[in-house]
Amino acid sequence: MFPAQFTYERARSEDEALAALAKYGADARVLAGGQSLIPAMRYRLARPGVLVDINAIGSLDYIEERDGFLSVGATARDYALEVSPLIRTQYELLASVSRVVADPVVRQTGTLVGSLCHNDPSGDWPVAALAARAQVVVRGMRGSRTISADDFLVDSFSTAVQDGEMAIEVRFPKPPPLTYGAYHKIERKVGDFATVCAGVQLTFDATGRVATAGIAIGAVGAKALRVSDGEMMITGNVPTNDLIGEVMEAAKTIADPVADNRGSVEYKREMAGVLVGRALRDACRLSGLQGAKTS
Ligand SMILES: Cc1cc2nc3c(=O)[nH]c(=O)nc-3n(C[C@H](O)[C@H](O)[C@H](O)COP(=O)(O)OP(=O)(O)OC[C@H]3O[C@@H](n4cnc5c(N)ncnc54)[C@H](O)[C@@H]3O)c2cc1C
Repeated sequence: MFPAQFTYERARSEDEALAALAKYGADARVLAGGQSLIPAMRYRLARPGVLVDINAIGSLDYIEERDGFLSVGATARDYALEVSPLIRTQYELLASVSRVVADPVVRQTGTLVGSLCHNDPSGDWPVAALAARAQVVVRGMRGSRTISADDFLVDSFSTAVQDGEMAIEVRFPKPPPLTYGAYHKIERKVGDFATVCAGVQLTFDATGRVATAGIAIGAVGAKALRVSDGEMMITGNVPTNDLIGEVMEAAKTIADPVADNRGSVEYKREMAGVLVGRALRDACRLSGLQGAKTS
């Protein structure tokens, strides 16, 4: 199928993009990688009257550490994250996600920021954003605001971005020393959306106790879910097998999946626990700390 008729505006600066978004309001949509928006338009699931293409805005294409954060601009491609030496060496959780989002062709074009703005309940980046306690910078004609991932990811395919605004960048707090992360995803075949996915980021203290924990699951609810109870259970403690088992149960408790051709409710709920357990054990193993007792 072909998309419904639309007007195309190519912005060359953030100001140009924001002016176009302000002018057309609810009728306009930002075009980033187009990997979700264009298929949705072709199936007439989305019918924007105006596309504001931000791909020519060079100032939005960056991956850099600044002021204690890793900042990823709105047009930085998933592929750039995947091959970034900085991410490979310093941001384990993001590195492990970047290898499994879609397939290599989609990753050449798709963007992390676009994925957060799309907020697919089965998306990989929203899970990472919760676990790593990311923030999203959103800009409109009247200024910018910084929103935590928890508040940004409002509901299925819905975010805190308002008409006339665009997301400029996502910021991940620079992990303190002794921080380790992992991501696990069950997919029917390589390149598929997750059947279930889980991301974990743990910071340990020198005694092997967990100082801070970020734990999130995806594809088992209307949006990515933070496993808050599990985070509280593990924080301040040595992650023993018993404790990891309790966190797995906490993940299963908040999982609220629907049955589809990827699996039953029971299977997905069980896998939410299993994947959280695997990601926690990976983070503990990577830490190599005496206190992190795993099997
Ligand atoms: C075959 C295939 C397989 C895929 N598999 C996966 C997968 O396994 N896991 C996964 O997570 N994703 C998957 N995707 C989705 C892919 O990762 C998309 O690229 C991503 O979800 C959206 O990024 P984008 O840059 O292409 O955004 P676009 O498609 O350009 O935009 C998506 C939405 O976000 C809005 N938007 C984009 N950028 C901004 C911005 N800066 N400010 C405000 N609004 C904005 C757009 O208006 C649109 O509504 C797959 C896609 C395809 C085609």
